[in-house]
Amino acid sequence: MAQAQENEDAAEDELHVSEAPMVRSVGVAIPFSPGFEINLDAVWWQTPRAEGLGRLADRWGMTENALLELNPELSEGERVDRGRRVLVYRYTPGTVSRSVGAPNYGRIENSAPFPQGEGWVLRSFRPRSYATRQTVETLAQALTQWHERYPDANPVKLGEFSKRGGGRVRPHKSHRTGRDVDLGYVMRDPDDGHRFVAVTDDNLDAEATWGLVQRLLASGAVESIFIADSVQEQLVPLAAETMDEAQRRATFSVLEPDARAKKKTTLKAVRGHDDHMHVRFQCTEADVNCKAAKRKKRRRRKRRRRRSRGRARR
Ligand SMILES: [Zn+2]
Repeated sequence: MAQAQENEDAAEDELHVSEAPMVRSVGVAIPFSPGFEINLDAVWWQTPRAEGLGRLADRWGMTENALLELNPELSEGERVDRGRRVLVYRYTPGTVSRSVGAPNYGRIENSAPFPQGEGWVLRSFRPRSYATRQTVETLAQALTQWHERYPDANPVKLGEFSKRGGGRVRPHKSHRTGRDVDLGYVMRDPDDGHRFVAVTDDNLDAEATWGLVQRLLASGAVESIFIADSVQEQLVPLAAETMDEAQRRATFSVLEPDARAKKKTTLKAVRGHDDHMHVRFQCTEADVNCKAAKRKKRRRRKRRRRRSRGRARR
C-alpha cells in the first residue's frame, strides 16, 4: 500500500488542476437512506487485536489521554482485548468542522474519522482516516447508497484521507485539509488485502466502479476525481447510458482533446491514478480561506536560486 501511495502522489504535482474551488452550502441535515445506521456523532471501533492502550491510540493518531477521555472506563496502560468496542470520536456540540486553506498547504479543525460500515474496508492502522464532517458524511452516504445498489460487489478499499488535525501527509502533496480521499477501484476478484490493485483490461468491475463514481457525482459535493485515462475509457461506455455527449465531455478528460478544456472536466487523468481514484470534495461555507491547490513551482525555483547563490559564496 505504502508503495502504491508513493507512486501515486508523487504525481499530484499536477494537483493545481482546478481553478477556483466550488463552494457548497452546509448545515442542512443530510437525508441518509433508511438503511443507514451509522451514527456520525459517536464513532465506535472494534479493536482488531489485543494490545496496549497507547498502541490503540497510535492507530487513530491520537494521544492515550484523548482516548481515555472518550473511554473513561479504560485505564492508563491497560491492555485492551481484541474485539472490544472503543469510542474513537464524539461530536462536541457547538464546534464547527472545517477545512482551512489549500489542499496542499492547509489543515482541518474539528475533523472526524471515517466510520466502519458495510460496503467498504478501512485499514487497521488509520491515523490518516480523518476528514471534515461534511466530507465524512457525504462519502459515507455515497458509499452506503452504492452498497445498496451493488450489494454483491467487492467492498471499496479506503486509502488515505487526512491526519486528525490535517497538515502534511507524506508522500502526498495534498490530503491536508480533509477534502481529499483515496478510494480503490472496484475489482472483479475479491481479495482480503488493503492494497490497491492496478487496473488492467480485464480485472475492473467497471459497472460497480461507475456506480460509485455516479453516486459521488450525484452528491453535488465533488470538485474533481483523479482517474487514469485507461480507467476512464472503461467507464465511458457505461456513462453513455445516462449522459448525452455534452455531459460526457464535461465529465471525462479522456474525451476532451483540448488540453485547457481537460482541466475543467470533473474526472481528470492525473498521473498515478491507475490503481485508485482520488476524490476532492468542494469547499463548503463552513470552510475558511478554502481554495484550490497552490502551485509550488515558483517557490522551488527561488529556493534553487538561493541554494546556488549559497554554493557560489562558499
Ligand atoms: Zn490521493
